[in-house]
Amino acid sequence: MATANMPKPAHADADTLLSRKFGKETVNYFSSSPLNRVSFLRSDNLLLSSALKHPSTKFLLFNQLAPLSQTFAQLYYASYQEIEAFVPLNIFDKPEKEIIQTYDSGKAAPLVVFLGLNESQPENGFSYKSYKGNPYFAVDITPRGALEEKAKHIIEAAESKGLIFNKARILTDLPPDDAAIYAQARQIIDWNVRNAFCGACGHPTISVNAGSKRACPPTDLGLLKNGSSTDNCRPPCHTRNTISNLSFPRTDPTVIVAVVSHDGKKVLLGRQKRYPPCWYSTLAGFIEPGESVEDAVRREVWEESGVVVSRVIIHSTQPWPYPASLMIGAIGQTAKPEDEVVNLSHDPELEEAQWFDIAEVEEALRTGVSSFGGPKPAGYKEGTLRLAPSTAIAYFLIEAAAKTELLGNQYLPRI
Ligand SMILES: [Zn+2]
Repeated sequence: MATANMPKPAHADADTLLSRKFGKETVNYFSSSPLNRVSFLRSDNLLLSSALKHPSTKFLLFNQLAPLSQTFAQLYYASYQEIEAFVPLNIFDKPEKEIIQTYDSGKAAPLVVFLGLNESQPENGFSYKSYKGNPYFAVDITPRGALEEKAKHIIEAAESKGLIFNKARILTDLPPDDAAIYAQARQIIDWNVRNAFCGACGHPTISVNAGSKRACPPTDLGLLKNGSSTDNCRPPCHTRNTISNLSFPRTDPTVIVAVVSHDGKKVLLGRQKRYPPCWYSTLAGFIEPGESVEDAVRREVWEESGVVVSRVIIHSTQPWPYPASLMIGAIGQTAKPEDEVVNLSHDPELEEAQWFDIAEVEEALRTGVSSFGGPKPAGYKEGTLRLAPSTAIAYFLIEAAAKTELLGNQYLPRI
């Protein structure tokens, strides 16, 4: 059960010197997208225009960040015909520079994000230069502004076909490939919506680079039309005085760690007040400016549990699009028994932190794993430890710590 839903990219089984030394790579849920993002083509308006109208192109639609879906476990990809009233065919006709120069606040522009090419589905023949694969886009159809009525029509048409907007807080039932596509799309759309106004001058920004950047345009043709100005210049903004007058989607690095005791016989886990009974998990927190991953691990563990971590290794990483985290999974170890005293008095984040014997953790990995807050799994013994499922990186960190198999062939000696 634990790994049935996980992505398995081709490189996972490749025999390389690194995989021989460190073992197979852990591939976490939301990662390993089937799409080639071809990020260098996001400013290529010829590619974008031809991709938009190609019959193989798929559009993932979001309403208030909820993806249009066939079921709670299956996304729905729309065709261009289903959204043509919302997304004009010429939306990508202008190069980026011209889009910025001809900004007109009186004209509504939908948010359309180019996600990439699915090279595993080239059967319908989309190609551009040497690149092949079905193009994927994400479109925000949340009803707002001048596009509100058009958006509502698309939503009504979709719901009349029995489709749903999956409003689950966290989606973990999607097939791995779709989960990765959804994670990319959700995170970029959310970032665009949160950055509709310039952080420096407070005026509206526009989406450029196929949805992956936002710019603060120097002029607005709409100012002339509505009579509010005798020219089309917007107020000065210092972001335009530098070459980096664009803002980029943010990713928030977060550490998440399973801590092993000095003798390798116990694992430190914590629980928050909101957890269901018997649930424990790894400790986690945001990395702060000027902090290494290893230092952030030691700081977070000490702040939340009082335990002093010594050596830290990075195990694997997981994009977590709620809203923009990159979970950097680590294993840490204490150096001596006196560093293992739990003290919750520093940071009140955890309700409890506790050392669990390896045997107890191994038993929980066998019989205590289920979706967060979901029904108790078969074989679960009442009152024993419960853990997160394999869609969470916490599962693999705890598994690695319990097996004392930290990086493939590297074993942590039990003292
Ligand atoms: Zn500005």
